Amino acid sequence: MSDATSGEPGFGVYVHWPFCASKCPYCDFNSHVRHKGWDEPRFLAAFRREIAHMAALAPGRTVSSIFFGGGTPSLMLPETVAGILDAIGGSWEVDDAVEVTLEANPTSVEADRFRGYRAAGINRVSLGVQSLHDEALKQLGRLHTAEEALKALGVATATFERVSFDLIYARPDQTPDAWRDELARALALGTDHLSLYQLTIEEGTPYWGLHRDGKLKTPDEATARALWDLTQETCEAAGLPAYEISNHARPGQESRHNLVYWRYGEYAGVGPGAHGRLIVNGARRELSTERNPELWASAVEADGAGLVMNEPLSLESQADEFLVMGLRLTEGIDLARFHRLCGRRISDRRIDDLVMDGMVERVGRDRLRVTPEGFPVLDAVVADLAS
Ligand code: SF4
Repeated sequence: MSDATSGEPGFGVYVHWPFCASKCPYCDFNSHVRHKGWDEPRFLAAFRREIAHMAALAPGRTVSSIFFGGGTPSLMLPETVAGILDAIGGSWEVDDAVEVTLEANPTSVEADRFRGYRAAGINRVSLGVQSLHDEALKQLGRLHTAEEALKALGVATATFERVSFDLIYARPDQTPDAWRDELARALALGTDHLSLYQLTIEEGTPYWGLHRDGKLKTPDEATARALWDLTQETCEAAGLPAYEISNHARPGQESRHNLVYWRYGEYAGVGPGAHGRLIVNGARRELSTERNPELWASAVEADGAGLVMNEPLSLESQADEFLVMGLRLTEGIDLARFHRLCGRRISDRRIDDLVMDGMVERVGRDRLRVTPEGFPVLDAVVADLAS
C-alpha cells in the first residue's frame, strides 16, 4: 500500500517521452526536436520491450504510480499512451488506486487529446503553464499564450480527477509585487497541486550564455529570497502548503510519483535517458538508458533495453541519495531507515549543531526535517549532514 499519507514509497514507473515541438532556452532536460516527426509505432514497440526487460529485472512488484514525463508527452498519440499502460499492466501488478500522470503542454492541440488520454488510463495531468503573462512566456520561449493555457487548464480540470500546473518564478526583472499578483491568480484557479520552480540557469543552455554575457539578469539573492518567502506564505495561507521544496498541495493531493523518488523508493525508468533505481538480489542498483531517441530505439531492438548504466550503488552513494532526496520533503527523513539502508548513523553532534543554527529540527525520536529557515540553503544543510 502506498499513498501520500502512509509514508511508504511504493513502486513507480517513469516513462520518458523525448520529443518537443521546440527547445526552450532554459531547458537542460533530455528533449529533442524532430522537424520531420518520428516513427511512433517504432517507439511504442521499443517501450513495450524495455518495460518487459525492466520487469524481468524487478519482477513481482505492485505499481503504485506511473509518470509520463519528458520532453513533451502530450505530443504522444493517446493510442501510444494506452499501449504503454497495457505493457506495464502486463508486466507487473498495478494497484487499484494507481496514480497515472502525464505532463502536458497547455495548448489547444493537447486539450483536444485530453479525452483520449483519459480513456487510455491517465488520471492526473501536470500542465507546463510556466507563467500567466504573455511577455514572460515569450521570454521563456514557450509556444503558448496565457489565454491558451487557461483554456487548456479548464479542459483539463473538466476531464481529469487531479490536475497540477507548473509556474516558473524568479524570472528576469520579476518583482515580489508582480509575483504576488500572479501567484494569487494561479491559486484562484483552484487546482489542488502547484509546482513552483525558481528559474535556474543551467550550463550549456542558451540562457547560460546570455546570463554569462550580462544580457539576462535574474533577481539578486535578496530578491530571490523575498520571492521564496512570499511563495511559501501565500501558498500556505491558501491551503496548499509546501510538502517539498518546490511543490505545494492540499493535504492528500501530493504527487505520489514524486514521493517515490523523495522517499527513496524503487522505480523503473523506461525511454531515452530515463533513470531508475531497482533492488535486484537485495542490492539497490542505478540504471540509466541511452539519451538519443533513435539510438535508444536501436539498442532496445538489438538487446531488449537501451541501458547504458546498470550498477550496484555503494552504501555511501545510497546514504547521499537518501539525504538529498528525503530532506527536500517537509516531512523530512526517518533516521532509523537511514541507518538500516546505509549501515551508519548521522552523528548526533552534527545534527545538534544544525538544530542550534535553526536549520533542522527533530520530530519525535526518529525523524529529522529541514526548517523553513533551512530550505533556502538546503544544499549546504545536506552537505553538512552527509559529510
Ligand atoms: S517543453 Fe519542457 S522539456 Fe521541452 S524544451 Fe521546453 S522545458 Fe524542455
